[in-house]
Amino acid sequence: MALIVHKYGGTSMGSPERIRNVAKRVAKWARAGHQMVVVPSAMSGETNRLLGLAKELSPELSTPDLLRELDAIAATGEQVSSGLLAIALQAEGMASVSYAGWQVAIATDSAHTKARIQSIDDVRVRADLAVGKVVVITGFQGVDENGNITTLGRGGSDTSAVAVAAALKAHECLIYTDVDGVYTTDPRIVPEARRLSTISFEEMLELASLGAKVLQIRSVEFAGKYRVPLRVLSSFTPWDINIVEEATSGTLITFEEDEKMEQAVVSGIAFNRDEAKISLLGVPDKPGIAFQILGPVADANIDVDVIIQNVSHGGKTDFSFTVHRNDYARTVALLKAQVMPKTGDAQLTGDTKICKVSIVGIGMRSHVGVASRMFSTLSDEGINIQMITTSEIKTSVVIDEKYMELAVRALHKAFDLEQPAAA
Ligand code: ASP
Ligand code: MG
Repeated sequence: MALIVHKYGGTSMGSPERIRNVAKRVAKWARAGHQMVVVPSAMSGETNRLLGLAKELSPELSTPDLLRELDAIAATGEQVSSGLLAIALQAEGMASVSYAGWQVAIATDSAHTKARIQSIDDVRVRADLAVGKVVVITGFQGVDENGNITTLGRGGSDTSAVAVAAALKAHECLIYTDVDGVYTTDPRIVPEARRLSTISFEEMLELASLGAKVLQIRSVEFAGKYRVPLRVLSSFTPWDINIVEEATSGTLITFEEDEKMEQAVVSGIAFNRDEAKISLLGVPDKPGIAFQILGPVADANIDVDVIIQNVSHGGKTDFSFTVHRNDYARTVALLKAQVMPKTGDAQLTGDTKICKVSIVGIGMRSHVGVASRMFSTLSDEGINIQMITTSEIKTSVVIDEKYMELAVRALHKAFDLEQPAAA
């Protein structure tokens, strides 16, 4: 017998019929002897609908007072789905109770619409579990020290589930979703992409932040920090599938030292088209130039990702960096107004038709030549690399957007990602 947390996304909770299926699945786990806590999302489309209603009354929802109301409104989506699930569980003959975040309580800071969980009181939940109840806890929300309802940011139910699992020291947190796990890359681009049976937290964080949108990033950080074993699996299997088969399906996000880990050098390939490149050509090559260029950008709260500075030529150098595409126009305007007047006859060029492709794998720590294999693969395809950035477990290149799919396919093949790695 173990304490297990299940999280169900909006699609899984999308209709009374689907909620009934969730209830049957959870009841199966409870009858197998497990203590069950379930964290549902709002029914699919509901959070958008609620936020849309608020925007009809006030299009600019940005003051703290308005954000407070927005959270109170958005949080109702999960209260409804949680109550419905508790009813469905009781209809299946399972004792069950649902709690909103403030009833548990899940304490957060006061940053409305993007609050962070600070602590979870487990007393009430443990008492219910002890008498055999299935406890349903709303995802996505908590309560601040002044009793205001807060929400955790879009997709935040993942983080709620992981935080609840951490607080209760659950055996595992299972995230039921509309994909059946984490893939080596997006199967829509590479049909041979393979589901990984395990992946490390660090790799998952890199893949999640690089654009693989399976889990809210914050939930992966939380799981890594509090060592919560996390599994992503499909909610579309029949509810009465064999429980052992179900419990070992999907992708387990786990610790590096875990001997179950696949031993691949590269585990996955991520890509995004969200960035744009800006270059300042022929700026004076002198101490402080990077700060002179990027200081005002940082002051404007614009995130800079990849940065490169070229070697000097005649006392001048070229300096390039990338920003989110949404920030491109603002950054160019800011450089023209605040930086260019101080950089002599430097030229500004920009390119919004770029993409970033990254290979990710903890095996890169102990294997040499991984990046060079990436570069030779791209060169064989005639793809020019514009920028490179690396971390311990990742190498990213910026290339022309029109080569993105070609690059991802070629790299997937070059690193044998369609084959399972030896365990
Ligand atoms: N219902 C919230 C959203 O749509 C939270 C979640 O589903 O995780 O973002
Ligand atoms: Mg989600």
